[in-house]
Amino acid sequence: MSKRILNDLWQVGGDGLTDPADAAIYLMRFGDKAALVDAGCGHGHSRLKKHIAECIPSDVQLEYLLLTHSHFDHTGGAEAVRNEFGCRIVAHELDAVYLESGDSEVTAASWYGARFKPLIIDIKLRGEESTLAIGSGSVTAIHWPGHSPGSVVYTTQIDSQLVLFGQDVHGPIHPALLSDEKQYQASLKKLVALDADLLLEGHFGIFRTKEEVREFIQSFMK
Ligand SMILES: [Zn+2]
Ligand SMILES: [Zn+2]
Repeated sequence: MSKRILNDLWQVGGDGLTDPADAAIYLMRFGDKAALVDAGCGHGHSRLKKHIAECIPSDVQLEYLLLTHSHFDHTGGAEAVRNEFGCRIVAHELDAVYLESGDSEVTAASWYGARFKPLIIDIKLRGEESTLAIGSGSVTAIHWPGHSPGSVVYTTQIDSQLVLFGQDVHGPIHPALLSDEKQYQASLKKLVALDADLLLEGHFGIFRTKEEVREFIQSFMK
């Protein structure tokens, strides 16, 4: 079963929904178009497909798969999602390089006993911030390096709420992932300043008030 978070916003994947190894997968709809945030590791693809079908009718086009960063628990299922729905895959260029080369170390696939198959990124985000129009709405990608070089969060307005998709806000910071603690600390400040109403995390669930969002992000600040 998918989980409704707001009107036109759902959790469709993650531990307990698709596969224990999957980071959370979120789906949003803007009129006749929709976008997915992250794809899980791929083991739960048939469940993911079923959950998406529960949330959006078949005439709503899944236009984008928005990847938050390169790690396998978020990206291993990306090719299967593109093959299934014909969507375009979006990632920041600083992580795209490891996805496109199939780097099993930097994508952390080796931590899951997997090899990362090279994944072509259709739209490479560059610089600090980019906005993508999706149907009747839009999503803004904000570069927040630290956990990985090309980590991004996505923000959007749904039901007059500022929703923040921050998939690995908690880290970890690890040399094999090319993490950078100094960048991470500066990026956490950037996330707090967004003052989001909801935080949809990759592994820690959903934070539903500005205060909860701020406290969670600040708990990783030094
Ligand atoms: Zn990660
Ligand atoms: Zn993760």
